[in-house]
Amino acid sequence: MAGILVFSETRDGTRELLSAGRDLAGKLGTTLTAFATEEGFAQDYIACGADEVLVLPALAADQPIEAYVPVLLESAKARDPDVFLIGATARGKEIAAKLAVGLNAGLCSGCSGFALDGAKLKMERMLYGGAAVQTVVCTTRPQMASVLPRSFDPAQPEEGRQGKITKLSTSPRSAVRVVSRAPKQRESVDITEAKVVVCVGRGVEKVEDISLARDLAQAAGGEVGCSRPIAEEMRWLPEDVYLGISGKKVKPDLYIGVGVSGQIQHVTGIRDSKVIFAINKDENAPIFEAADYGIVGDLYQVVPKLIEEIKAALKG
Ligand SMILES: Cc1cc2nc3c(=O)[nH]c(=O)nc-3n(C[C@H](O)[C@H](O)[C@H](O)COP(=O)(O)OP(=O)(O)OC[C@H]3O[C@@H](n4cnc5c(N)ncnc54)[C@H](O)[C@@H]3O)c2cc1C
Repeated sequence: MAGILVFSETRDGTRELLSAGRDLAGKLGTTLTAFATEEGFAQDYIACGADEVLVLPALAADQPIEAYVPVLLESAKARDPDVFLIGATARGKEIAAKLAVGLNAGLCSGCSGFALDGAKLKMERMLYGGAAVQTVVCTTRPQMASVLPRSFDPAQPEEGRQGKITKLSTSPRSAVRVVSRAPKQRESVDITEAKVVVCVGRGVEKVEDISLARDLAQAAGGEVGCSRPIAEEMRWLPEDVYLGISGKKVKPDLYIGVGVSGQIQHVTGIRDSKVIFAINKDENAPIFEAADYGIVGDLYQVVPKLIEEIKAALKG
């Protein structure tokens, strides 16, 4: 057997891999198979491009997602795929590494793009904080990559698409047992889902001034994110809303940078926004190179005026 296998621990992640996998399968003239962590996802994955869905057995309450490694490994060995793509969530990266060891195959970790050279997969990953792109080719089989979330748009369902659903029976196993689960302290929103993101940078002088960004976000119907120093150094906002290569990657309709310099490590996480708008008092700030629109000015003067204008425009 051959073909392309995809696994992600999340449904959105699987749809993104299906989008990448469908394109590759079409060009290679081969089949696309997705693993599903829930039986209820199977039909959706077929509609989104899978030719076959392998439904994984349910995990016991004390089993971590890594318990799927033996099951994934057994299926991969039996199918001998050309390509195996795994969603690079924190746990997905660990799973991908374990699978690569089990399959004695090379793995390109943290890929964000693919190209084909015949049947060879050229895998692209960012280096030096996004300043360079490395192209990796695996000389082993399968060609394996863990794929960064939001590198591909999720595949969209196609009505009437047919495929095969196979339930796997191998039991998940892990030496690790989950003793308890507690929700992570986080902002009430998932910043990656926001249509408008107002991003606070170090141009903001005091923690109280974040309220300016909150007011702007509220007026524009968006959410507040930040640059890494605001979350990691100042601790003014939680780490799950900082944007960039080591933070969250976002693709909102509108990104508004407020006092953000726009270093490459930040821009890498926001460059796919539909519109980038920046407010910075330094006309030479690098953010203006990435921006579609910008205002050179003091954020403490510009933001209140902008809020007024947005409110007036919405009223009118
Ligand atoms: C390996 C690595 C990974 C990294 N990953 C990330 C990442 O994922 N995300 C990230 O954000 N950073 C990341 N960084 C850090 C990154 O290099 C920058 O240091 C950081 O993005 C800068 O944050 P900033 O723009 O808020 O601050 P600064 O660079 O200090 O910029 C502040 C800006 O505010 C402007 N300003 C000041 N006062 C005002 C005012 N009153 N009105 C208007 N503008 C004003 C200034 O002109 C300046 O441009 C990483 C760095 C490394 C080395």
